[in-house]
Amino acid sequence: MGIEGIPADGVRVNVAALMDRKNRVVTTLRGGVEQLMKGHGVEVVRGAGRLKAPDVVTVDGRELNAKAVIIATGSAWRSLPDIPVDGERIVASDHLLNWTEVPARLGIIGGGIIGCEFASMMQTFGAKVVMVEAAATLLPGEDPIVGRTLARLFTKRGMEIFTETTVGEVRRQGATVAMQLSNGQTREIDVLLVAVGRRPYTDELGIAELGIVNERGFVTADERMATPVGSVFAVGDVIGHSMLAHVASAQAEVAVQNALGGEAAMSYHAVPRPIYTDPEVCGVGATEGELQAKGVAYRTGRFSLAAVSKTLCDGESPDGSMTVYADPDGCLLGGHLISPHATDLAQSLCVAIQNRLTVKDMMTTIYSHPTYSELVKEAVEDVEGRAVHKVTVKRSA
Ligand SMILES: Cc1cc2nc3c(=O)[nH]c(=O)nc-3n(C[C@H](O)[C@H](O)[C@H](O)COP(=O)(O)OP(=O)(O)OC[C@H]3O[C@@H](n4cnc5c(N)ncnc54)[C@H](O)[C@@H]3O)c2cc1C
Repeated sequence: MGIEGIPADGVRVNVAALMDRKNRVVTTLRGGVEQLMKGHGVEVVRGAGRLKAPDVVTVDGRELNAKAVIIATGSAWRSLPDIPVDGERIVASDHLLNWTEVPARLGIIGGGIIGCEFASMMQTFGAKVVMVEAAATLLPGEDPIVGRTLARLFTKRGMEIFTETTVGEVRRQGATVAMQLSNGQTREIDVLLVAVGRRPYTDELGIAELGIVNERGFVTADERMATPVGSVFAVGDVIGHSMLAHVASAQAEVAVQNALGGEAAMSYHAVPRPIYTDPEVCGVGATEGELQAKGVAYRTGRFSLAAVSKTLCDGESPDGSMTVYADPDGCLLGGHLISPHATDLAQSLCVAIQNRLTVKDMMTTIYSHPTYSELVKEAVEDVEGRAVHKVTVKRSA
């Protein structure tokens, strides 16, 4: 924190004030949505809804009849059978989002998106973080280079990271928690965050008899977001595809159009996967692993954040990069970034992939200087071996 000339000495985190601000932001955003509902004439009925029949929803004794129903009940945190969450010392993300002090030592089981985001945030706030991930790298949903880069950055800042490691016995000893690792080591922490994924939330929904739930407990929906019961649609985390807010929104737009008699289909080939760590990470579209698994031919472009002048100007860590994948014709298929503002920068790649733009289309675009968006420009140019600020240029086939 801080660059020469602007020292960050004396910076302190007041978690209570942070939480207060967070709650005000959430209240404002929630108020905005409620205003939109009113403005569009949507009646909001508060209470737990239950599907009595495919065209009847009951809420606290009141019956609502509908030609079509959209299930959007979301997900809840998942726990591990031998590590029960108590909300005090062994917690889930819901609990940490309302924490009023930073634990001195935080253990995290799970190095996925939620685990990494909390690790990054809590370490910045001053916690000593120990993170344990069963897979070979952090962020196992992304290409391995992403998780390895993030692990290197986190470790440099003092975080302890164990990959290919699981947590065995966890014991609460008064105000501390001892966790036994599969590598034989033990770590003592003050709070343990269990971040091992989410489960679909269908409790008390009354849908078991409809035959629309798969063996993993998620509601089944096709690309029209229709369940096997044609007039019942499902969107968001409850169907288990991507589990991101913007994906839920896109699915909802498709479901609403179809519920009203339209013909819309959901496409997932250009979905952004934002990860709010420091630095930010964002994957878009296909990963390299997916392309290889499907036998898709592709070329790679890569550019380092260290060669982007804005990085130097801002005094940011040069430990980041962008990688893009394009098919032999230059049509962009996917990629990932690790950089400041990666989640915003990734959007231009989304537009390119969604609209089947090619590397050449992107290369004729002018990017502002100095900006981090030059990382996108040079990574895309590198597919053709034409990244101007990279010495080891490749020649196109
Ligand atoms: C810690 C954390 C951080 C995240 N960060 C991001 C992020 O940065 N970007 C991103 O895109 N996504 C993020 N996500 C994921 C995102 O929150 C979800 O993908 C999104 O909220 C899913 O929307 P949804 O409408 O399916 O479910 P939800 O937003 O969970 O909404 C479901 C709603 O249905 C209600 N409900 C459930 N059952 C019933 C019932 N029977 N009757 C009436 N109401 C019911 C619930 O109370 C809830 O309000 C994050 C998730 C977590 C846990």
